[in-house]
Amino acid sequence: MERISWDQYFMAQSHLLALRSTCTRLAVGATIVRDKRIIAGGYNGSIAGGVHCTDEGCYIVDNHCIRTIHAEMNAILQCAKFGVPTEGAEIYVTHFPCMQCSKSIIQAGIQTIYYAKDYKNHPYAIELFEQASVRVEQVELNEMMIDLHHQEKLSFVADMMKRLSEAGLEEAEMEKIQKQANQLFASHM
Ligand SMILES: [Zn+2]
Ligand SMILES: [Zn+2]
Repeated sequence: MERISWDQYFMAQSHLLALRSTCTRLAVGATIVRDKRIIAGGYNGSIAGGVHCTDEGCYIVDNHCIRTIHAEMNAILQCAKFGVPTEGAEIYVTHFPCMQCSKSIIQAGIQTIYYAKDYKNHPYAIELFEQASVRVEQVELNEMMIDLHHQEKLSFVADMMKRLSEAGLEEAEMEKIQKQANQLFASHM
């Protein structure tokens, strides 16, 4: 089996954290890393002990849910709570950070941002990152890296396609199925 890269490993961790999100609008995860060690993680959710958007619905003001603390902020605040330095750290986020989080990331001394998906990338955030010499890089998660049965799935599909062809399924249908299978199981990278 192929060994997972650090980038993919930390990005996978952020995607895992996003699954803990309690806001129904967008599930975001963030992982702060120093010297290849995870020092903090967060997802967007309510304050500890608070009610959840998933139970009570979002609390929308000016088209934003004000109930939740963003994933990046939660990760940074976890460092503040436990006295862990963030200077020179890296952050892995599932989505491009919002304006507020972008400023907090810079102010926390985090030097590199890896994000998986573009999300309303604010030009002013990009400008501030440049000004502060914060490196920003897009790293998309290759889900196949964390799929332990990837090879089995691929050979299962190949075998099934062969049988369908032998059973006389039309070429056009075969292509359609193969395309769907590729989207689901084939490596994107
Ligand atoms: Zn919400
Ligand atoms: Zn944010």
